[in-house]
Amino acid sequence: MNQSHEPQTLLVPVPSGDTLGTTLADRARSREEEFMFRQELERRRRLEVEAEQAKLQATQEFQAAVREAQRQNHWMRCPKCGSELCEVDHGDICIDRCETCEGVWLDAGEMDQLLKRENDGILGRFLRQLRT
Ligand SMILES: [Zn+2]
Repeated sequence: MNQSHEPQTLLVPVPSGDTLGTTLADRARSREEEFMFRQELERRRRLEVEAEQAKLQATQEFQAAVREAQRQNHWMRCPKCGSELCEVDHGDICIDRCETCEGVWLDAGEMDQLLKRENDGILGRFLRQLRT
């Protein structure tokens, strides 16, 4: 049995003037054309899916590159003046501080640590108001 998907040549004897032979040959040709048409349709669908996947991957890679460029441009930079931030240790908490405008920035979780430490103090009450 032929396993390839190449169109096969149908050898149907068609005697001249034989209408039944001509009809059978036409039907065979029609089935072959339908098979080839379906194969082409399937190939085009596969190509469309592959193109869509490649487009999605390119978009994701572009977005990741943009995020990385933004991270590199803004990492340890003051959100107010753009100057470099430096880390200042306050016991178990490391706070980012701007050398230029003296702004103080807390990373995720640092406010919670300050709240635990300052529980009922004035700084603790102030920080709790910022969270709500
Ligand atoms: Zn600053």
